[in-house]
Amino acid sequence: MKKKITIIGSGFSALSAACYLAKSGHEVLVFEKNNAVGGRARQLKKDGFTFDMGPSWYWMPDVFERFFADFGKKTTDYYELIKLSPAYRVYFGVNDFIAIADNPDEIVATFESIEKGSGKQLREFIAEAKSNYDIAIKDLVYRPGVSPLELVTVETTKKIGQFFSNISRDVRKKFKNEKLIQILEFPVLFLGAKPSDTPSFYSFMNYADFGLGTWHPKTGMFDVVRAMESLASELGVQFFVNSNIEKIIVENKTAKAIVVNGEKIESDLVLSGADYHHTETLLDQQYRMYSEQYWESRVFAPSSLLFYVGFNKKIANISHHALFFDTDFYQHAKDIYDEPQWPAEPLFYANFPSLTDKTAAPEGMESGFFLVPLAPGINDSEELREAYFDKIIQRFEAITQQNIKENIIFKQSFCKNDFVEQYNSYKGNAYGMANTLLQTAFLRPKLKSKKVRNLYFTGQLTVPGPGVPPALISGKLVSDLIDKQFLKV
Ligand SMILES: Cc1cc2nc3c(=O)[nH]c(=O)nc-3n(C[C@H](O)[C@H](O)[C@H](O)COP(=O)(O)OP(=O)(O)OC[C@H]3O[C@@H](n4cnc5c(N)ncnc54)[C@H](O)[C@@H]3O)c2cc1C
Repeated sequence: MKKKITIIGSGFSALSAACYLAKSGHEVLVFEKNNAVGGRARQLKKDGFTFDMGPSWYWMPDVFERFFADFGKKTTDYYELIKLSPAYRVYFGVNDFIAIADNPDEIVATFESIEKGSGKQLREFIAEAKSNYDIAIKDLVYRPGVSPLELVTVETTKKIGQFFSNISRDVRKKFKNEKLIQILEFPVLFLGAKPSDTPSFYSFMNYADFGLGTWHPKTGMFDVVRAMESLASELGVQFFVNSNIEKIIVENKTAKAIVVNGEKIESDLVLSGADYHHTETLLDQQYRMYSEQYWESRVFAPSSLLFYVGFNKKIANISHHALFFDTDFYQHAKDIYDEPQWPAEPLFYANFPSLTDKTAAPEGMESGFFLVPLAPGINDSEELREAYFDKIIQRFEAITQQNIKENIIFKQSFCKNDFVEQYNSYKGNAYGMANTLLQTAFLRPKLKSKKVRNLYFTGQLTVPGPGVPPALISGKLVSDLIDKQFLKV
């Protein structure tokens, strides 16, 4: 039966849910507080430079294909994908980097050239990672986190040990070279926790990395936002930007309406794609499922210090994605998770989209994005941002052997306070709640409220977890639950 559904927020999870719910025949209205859709994946355009404000690694292309296929479409109906070659570089010091190729055979050869015997070990590791990928990403993540039994399958029973060991330990059993170890520990950082706190089963991220490759939508990740917005519009979804939800009105333990910029809008069902913690603050206390102590006790993904930078020249000695692992990886992780503080010697990540996409910067110029992961909830000030910018640019100049600072003609920062202010993000987290063993599947915040009828949640704080592919899946999972409820009615 056709229902009127209001959706809070327009990140990937909300866009995905909007498409599925509209396809099921519902009237769907999406309300976004900011002036553009896309959530953390919004785009910044300034002085001829274009930046993706958040995600930049397009991994797991099969998940995107599966999403569009559900609507009888293909990604190529909306955007073009380029496979990056090399996928990325990891810098360990001055003129000291490892380039990760765009195919497993070359990556194996690179490993073998650095540590004798590691090529064979890598093939075995990636074979296991692929088998985990087939179980997790093709099946398990499409389960709604309602019951622990969802995780019990013939395949997972065989791999039970992998839920109680961790990536860090596994990688160390097979590899000795510190650089190779760090490269293999890097992909699970996308899941928001330390590799030593991430179950071995999550090695499927290594298959996503080495097996499936790193892709780039021709004019950036925002192509995917545009694609989903246009698919949603084709399906009849209505979008309202500059529309801040101030309250969810509950009557008779049922979500009845939302208050948008002071105006009450009634609906049959409310779905929130905004940060889960924030959504609960839109409810009166008695309708919230999780206490402040609950949120306080969770492991959150890092916040980030970001810089969007325009250079008036081309930058040398770089690749599209570049990780700067020339300082102590484990000390930085400690500064995020164990003793939260600004890291003395931060690792950082940079990308230069204009290397792949000529429209991202004016001719002869370069657009650069710099990211330093930080502890959520950390203090944030203009002075700290500037001090850290100087720190990473100096390191960048030394490592890549060039001067770039005097070539900056545009610069904008984004940090914890902006995550809070612009996205209502809990503690300014950049990408949600981490996937640790105790924060996996049915142990994550629920898609459906147990206290308020017709109130649902989606996004990176619920199932399956952080990242763009999981956000697409989260939107599908919650729509399936909603459809199930209305079929029962
Ligand atoms: C810097 C950064 C880098 C990342 N890199 C990658 C990457 O390379 N690859 C990858 O796969 N993932 C990456 N991620 C993670 C990925 O971007 C997120 O997991 C995903 O985009 C989250 O989508 P979402 O729908 O859950 O939430 P969001 O995108 O946060 O959407 C929530 C929306 O709700 C809106 N909202 C909040 N409160 C209200 C309110 N009261 N009223 C109305 N609207 C409201 C917000 O403005 C926002 O638009 C990155 C994230 C960041 C921040």
